[in-house]
Amino acid sequence: MDAATKAVEDLLGALGIDEGEHTADTPARVARAWGDMLWGYRSDPAEHLNTTFPAPEDPGLIIQAGIDVQSICAHHLLPFGGTATVAYRPMNGQRVVGLSKLTRVVYGYSARAQIQERIGQQVADAIRDRLNPEGVAVIISASHDCIRLRGARSPASMTTTVARRGVISSSDMDLIQHLHLKASSG
Ligand SMILES: [Zn+2]
Repeated sequence: MDAATKAVEDLLGALGIDEGEHTADTPARVARAWGDMLWGYRSDPAEHLNTTFPAPEDPGLIIQAGIDVQSICAHHLLPFGGTATVAYRPMNGQRVVGLSKLTRVVYGYSARAQIQERIGQQVADAIRDRLNPEGVAVIISASHDCIRLRGARSPASMTTTVARRGVISSSDMDLIQHLHLKASSG
């Protein structure tokens, strides 16, 4: 039995949970599920930004909205999920990345035990460090099971975090926020 399976078995025992057949294989199943959900530890998300393409002379603002975020809260080990918007403005003549790469960077950092603020910071830092753009902004809106199910019990509450690096003009920020709101309100 691997350590994670044993730990889940101990947790069920400590909580006095025994639902017969239903929980007989639960320790191994849960250990596998956590391994699946936390695959982000087995990757370096920033590596997705290594492949770049030449951009037009003035590539303007690039916004990828509606990116699905599913993560595990590091404080309670409960899921949180929502939508991210990633935007950056390359310098003139600077190379850009494929749009799907922005999504992959978000996925990679999300698939770890996280706090929402840090996902945004890590994505913004990765884009700043690898692409050196004029500016980058990452907005995430998510609802947290640890808020829905326990403590303050506020099922409808939504947390929005904003990470910015470099220079993003206020008109750029208005557009990014507008598109984020549109994408995250379904
Ligand atoms: Zn939490």
